[in-house]
Amino acid sequence: MQPVKEPGFRQSVDLMFNRAVALMDLPPGLEEKIRVCNATYTVRFGVRLRGQIQTFTGYRSVHSEHMEPVKGGIRYALSVNQNEVEALAALMTYKCALVEAPFGGSKGGLCIDPRDWDDHELEQITRRFAYELIKRDMINPAQNVPAPDMGTGEREMAWIADQYARMNTTDINSKACVTGKPLNAGGIAGRVEATGRGVQYALQEFFREPEDKKKAGLSGTLDGKRVIVQGLGNVGYHAALFLSTEDGARITGIVERDGALFNPEGLDVEAVREWINRHGGVTGYPEGQFVTDGASVMEEECDILIPAALEGVLNLENAERIQAPLIIEAANGPITAGADEILRRKGCVIIPDLFANAGGVTVSYFEWVKNLSHIRFGRMQRRQEEARHQLIVDELERLSADSGIGWQLSPGFKDKYLRGAGELELVRSGLDDTMRTAYQSMRAVWHARGDVEDLRTAAYLVAIDRVASSYRAKGL
Ligand code: NAD
Repeated sequence: MQPVKEPGFRQSVDLMFNRAVALMDLPPGLEEKIRVCNATYTVRFGVRLRGQIQTFTGYRSVHSEHMEPVKGGIRYALSVNQNEVEALAALMTYKCALVEAPFGGSKGGLCIDPRDWDDHELEQITRRFAYELIKRDMINPAQNVPAPDMGTGEREMAWIADQYARMNTTDINSKACVTGKPLNAGGIAGRVEATGRGVQYALQEFFREPEDKKKAGLSGTLDGKRVIVQGLGNVGYHAALFLSTEDGARITGIVERDGALFNPEGLDVEAVREWINRHGGVTGYPEGQFVTDGASVMEEECDILIPAALEGVLNLENAERIQAPLIIEAANGPITAGADEILRRKGCVIIPDLFANAGGVTVSYFEWVKNLSHIRFGRMQRRQEEARHQLIVDELERLSADSGIGWQLSPGFKDKYLRGAGELELVRSGLDDTMRTAYQSMRAVWHARGDVEDLRTAAYLVAIDRVASSYRAKGL
């Protein structure tokens, strides 16, 4: 069979952008200004490893500087290339605008499979890559602030922060040069779980809207819903874990690099993750059916499909066979423009990436603010809040005793009510509020305009309109 030809990731993002701007009334010059990627820096650097000089290629792309700093993750994968980095940077611009994080869009990548290198080697490579970007201000608290993405995490962000501090010894805000750091290196509670948590909050908000559920042919709550997730990494793991342990969803399929697990009764996410950590994949996991052709499990019947691994996995080749009535794009660009059209035609509701995985950048925003203010969220208010709550509880208990009625506060109420919010509670509250507000802004356009068929177009419309206003305010 001839392989099906379809546009690459960069073109897919452009096509989706074009579909939205066709419904807007932007001056053509401004439209083009927003679409194009401002700059992409390619760096090739050598590191002496294993007795010889190894050369690595990396990118940092800045899509739009309508707000600064620009923001976007750094990805480590062999497949990294300029087009991919530019597509991801464009998505960051729209994502930040949609969730009102005051940043422009950027993204970075290094062509490397982190599994090929040990920890010490990875540190040397990361520090050298960071050095190249820092000396050109492509990592800088006021200009360009990276974060984790596929193949990177807290550890890499700590190395980058330390490298920046070494090169800028008098910058009091140096910690704000990168987000997603470990707590003890200036990070924030709740950043690791943030993107997966955001996926959960996004779905909760969707399920609060009867009309939206109806469009997907679904009803009720998340309780008992069958979920298939692709990629049990940072994003997929946290989303699947919270949906199953807190909302009662059933994770019936987990698709990984080496194959997939399928179990209509539901899989234990924590146990599967531990298995992957110990064995490097899902192969051999004892509970559930192992499927060698992992991707085919995404075609199984379910209520919600969560692609949370990489781009282009739902494409012209498999879109017709996808049965899920609701897809939430936890990964960036998992659905190609062609597949998007087929799925929409079939009536599938797609919660788009620029909204669905915005939890990461939202909590990164909180971390950046924390670093600039040099104080943990909640540190000033927490005990004062507890003291005021204590006053009410004491008064209620006094009234009950004095009146002789003998009222009792329900068990657990006192503990829950008295506890002031710490950083984690505040971060989760800020994230939940952000996801709900962004969903409502998207949905308002989806329902109000007869010419907007889907949430993705609605999301682009909201985002592009905000970027355009920002450019107009600058006199462009
Ligand atoms: P990760 O590296 O932690 O996890 C990726 C997972 O996908 C791994 O478990 C990997 O084994 C699996 N995987 C890789 N190739 C696969 C394949 N062909 N089939 C099935 N599984 C495969 O990465 P992550 O940080 O969870 O990022 C995943 C996606 O989410 C990416 O598209 C990324 O851009 C996006 N994203 C991440 C964040 C974040 O905060 N980490 C924020 C926004 C968006």
